[in-house]
Amino acid sequence: MSQIKGSSHRCISEARPGQQATQQLFSASLELFSICFTRSPCKDVGGRPLSCRGRPKQSFSKAREGFRINSSFTQDFASKNHIEAMNNSSENKFARKPLAWKRIVVKLSGEALMGRLSHGLDHDVLTSIAADLKDVAARGVEVAVVVGGGNFFRGIEGADRGIERARADSIGMLATVMNALALEYAIEKQGQAARTMSALPMPALCEAYSHQAALHHLAKGRTVVLGGGTGNPFFTTDTGAALRGAELSCDLIMKATKVDGVYSADPKRDPRAIRYDQLTHDEAISRNLAVMDTAAFALARENGIPIIVFSIREKGAILSALEGRGNATLVLP
Ligand code: UDP
Repeated sequence: MSQIKGSSHRCISEARPGQQATQQLFSASLELFSICFTRSPCKDVGGRPLSCRGRPKQSFSKAREGFRINSSFTQDFASKNHIEAMNNSSENKFARKPLAWKRIVVKLSGEALMGRLSHGLDHDVLTSIAADLKDVAARGVEVAVVVGGGNFFRGIEGADRGIERARADSIGMLATVMNALALEYAIEKQGQAARTMSALPMPALCEAYSHQAALHHLAKGRTVVLGGGTGNPFFTTDTGAALRGAELSCDLIMKATKVDGVYSADPKRDPRAIRYDQLTHDEAISRNLAVMDTAAFALARENGIPIIVFSIREKGAILSALEGRGNATLVLP
């Protein structure tokens, strides 16, 4: 895995992540919308062909080890029976086999941090998530956490009320830093070292995000809490999570939600909606399944990063999902 991650890291580094991140996001989005899925031939620094930007082809087969997708999964919309058959397939090892991820990025929305409150932070929820993150770190997994800010402010809502969008998004990014500081404190209270890094420099409050410093903290076993999203307006923290996941050569993106995975339809509206155990990125696109927001998902797909979508409602949910316990959906390249 280290060889794979090294290759990915080199490719991303060549693209100068800080300066060209925005460009990469736009190109990823464009590729998604084109839906033609043709990839230009690309080689890594060793001259080996890449099947996507940043990851050599063999990384896909590595990532798939132990969780092969049912090959009969067709382009047509899957029927209930088909999804159930796929989920029960003996080839589906996700629910049974513990996962061995080395470095992960967890995306926690502001909503996840507010628990049952209507806004702001629920202290008990923070404590519970912090304990969960500590347990994950104790298993030797390097953990970066990207936090949202929707429990305080969302730029799009500010824009709807007449605030210029870029300024409203700045307020939203500040909200994410508030959450990051609160989570950092909660993690430290559990006895686990943590560092908040903000994409927008705020030296009086926390470290400014830098790729090398983040890797350094992760290598030291510190949980890195990332605020400020991408540092740019018009993006979301989902995209921030995918961006940092690629930049930090993470093996996995964990997307915490209120539901326990990706469904064939909105489970709140359609009682017949079925949850997928596994999917590929391409299948999620062709079925219009909302895994993450569009730019984020395109970036994850472009860089061949698997995504686990899981519910954060239960205590210990992050570790459970990492170990393949409980319900979740694994999206593989
Ligand atoms: N935001 C931004 N750029 C980013 C990430 C976030 O401008 O890269 C702003 C945007 O206004 C967004 C707000 O921060 O609405 C909070 O982030 P997000 O909506 O992703 O939070 P979540 O819904 O996950 O709590």
